[in-house]
Amino acid sequence: MRLTGLTVRALEELLDSRTRALAAAKWIYGPRAWSQELPTTVPGVAAAAWQTLRTRCTVTEVRIADQATASDGTIKFLIAVEGGAVESVMIPTARRSTICVSSQIGCTRSCVFCATATLGFGRNLRADEIVAQFLIARATAPAHSPAKNVVFMGMGEPMDNLDEVLTAVEILTQSPAPQLGQTQVTVSTSGVLPGMKRFLAEARCSLALSLNGSTDAQRLALMPQTKTWPIEALLGLLRDDRARHPNRVHFIEYVMFDGINDTDADAARVVELLRGVNARLNLIPHNAIAGSPLRASPRERIEGFHRVAAAGGLRTMIRWPRGQDIAAACGQLAQIRSGL
Ligand code: SF4
Repeated sequence: MRLTGLTVRALEELLDSRTRALAAAKWIYGPRAWSQELPTTVPGVAAAAWQTLRTRCTVTEVRIADQATASDGTIKFLIAVEGGAVESVMIPTARRSTICVSSQIGCTRSCVFCATATLGFGRNLRADEIVAQFLIARATAPAHSPAKNVVFMGMGEPMDNLDEVLTAVEILTQSPAPQLGQTQVTVSTSGVLPGMKRFLAEARCSLALSLNGSTDAQRLALMPQTKTWPIEALLGLLRDDRARHPNRVHFIEYVMFDGINDTDADAARVVELLRGVNARLNLIPHNAIAGSPLRASPRERIEGFHRVAAAGGLRTMIRWPRGQDIAAACGQLAQIRSGL
């Protein structure tokens, strides 16, 4: 067993007491610098019980192998894990920071615009490794901008590693620590329907669906799995979720590619597609990757798309890239090959 993969339920079983489990969780997931060392005692847990936990659990073998800070304050970490490395990103804003975590070494999918896809697939990360990325990055957040949000938008397709992702989500949102709100954790997907179904049934936080096209043909050219799960099936699932969870708001991610998916007609189609879906639309200029002919839509095209979407009643934001100068922006995480 690994320490940062333990839910309060699991701690309760190990420590044979709810009170001790809560005290242990407070220490394990509380704000402190990351360390492989475990103290001999922690407040609120009887020394003998803590000793039992120490003998049965190990601290996850993760460490910062490298890091780079962008001119906008975004920090990208190369995190060494057993058998490989992944990247995590800490994105500070005026009042809060967002931590972007990876769920796999590499990825099982092959989206043509994504640097991670060029790495191939290594292995699924365990929940303790996912949570450890958050704990490590959180310790570096500026005091005026504490880490309050987590997005599963790093390396990997979270729906292809769902057991571990769901455990990590449970840990991140559990009391007394780290105690993130359900609306502060977002799990992204390129559109893996069976995983989305299970996620919506078992988790309470939001999904971010990468739509990236206004037709199945556009999506197919960018994201091969669309052949199995077309747009209407994916959005139908989110529409149904609205009936069960009226307050849950999802995110539709739309990466904008010059001359591919960025016309006013595309925007009008997206407005129609999203009718009845409780979601915000994020427009994201594509971040170029080496060796790819794909380019970001020009600024005026993105703003034109935004105007049509907003006029159609969609809650729409343009997500101008963060951390682009250190390749920490969306779709650029592939340091293992390209160098920090
Ligand atoms: S965009 Fe996401 S799902 Fe697609 S290859 Fe990249 S990491 Fe995998």
